[in-house]
Amino acid sequence: MIYGGLEGGGSTFECVVGTGPESVAASSTIPTTTPSETLSEVAGFLSAHDIDAVGVATFGPLDLDPASPTYGHLFVTPKPAWSGTDVVGTLAAALGVPVAIDTDVNGAAIGENRWGAAQGLDTFIYVTVGTGIGGGGLVNGKPMHGLMHPEIGHVRIPRHPDDDFPGNCRYHGDCLEGLAAGPAIADRWGRPADDLGEHAEAARALEAFYLGVTMANLTLTISPQRIIIGGGVLAMPGLLEATRAVMLDTLAGYVEVASDSDVSGYLVAPGLGSRSGVLGALVLAGA
Ligand code: ZN
Repeated sequence: MIYGGLEGGGSTFECVVGTGPESVAASSTIPTTTPSETLSEVAGFLSAHDIDAVGVATFGPLDLDPASPTYGHLFVTPKPAWSGTDVVGTLAAALGVPVAIDTDVNGAAIGENRWGAAQGLDTFIYVTVGTGIGGGGLVNGKPMHGLMHPEIGHVRIPRHPDDDFPGNCRYHGDCLEGLAAGPAIADRWGRPADDLGEHAEAARALEAFYLGVTMANLTLTISPQRIIIGGGVLAMPGLLEATRAVMLDTLAGYVEVASDSDVSGYLVAPGLGSRSGVLGALVLAGA
């Protein structure tokens, strides 16, 4: 058996054919333009390989209720052309193989569970901080679904007293994503998030505050065995360590597992780097 794995993102669809991190037979990066153009390019790439099933880990929000008539469709999304797109149906019709789907972050969590930093765990969270903030994971061994799926990036958190940036989430203003995703950092400081110059230290402190408080909240609500945090913003030097420190301060010793000296094993970087999602998609497909 050989599988196709897709990770759908705002700017590209990452595609692989294979069975795991050490056995990727082919890969391709396809720009995210219109649904018909992008999905037909994706199907064209996959159809050149004799795959048995496809897994999709994509941006949402997604209908993941198997009983719903719109299962596998995108709901209304901030990418207007994609609202309502039948991702599963389109690919299944084009390729004639089973298509499984979950969110990009649940897919990444599944990849980390199989091959990365969450091996052997049944309850953990994966958070990514980049152009947006997303979070998913497994609870008791199953991906988190429910009313739809978690949208951890849009929780409300306390504002830092020194921060007068109003926030830029188009739905909520100063939710977590509106204060702490890459575009918020760039808007606040008037410079790209990876080139903050003299503002670097202040930006890191603010970012660590928002992320650290969020990690404490996730610890208290989900009680994960581990939290994996990745995404482009975490490339900021020292941010992971600073976030751990804020998380511990916020928890104030209340949660034993997160307050001992091995916090570096509790809040961790992804084991699969930037490939967690696309490799997790292979697992969704059946790998
Ligand atoms: Zn929001």
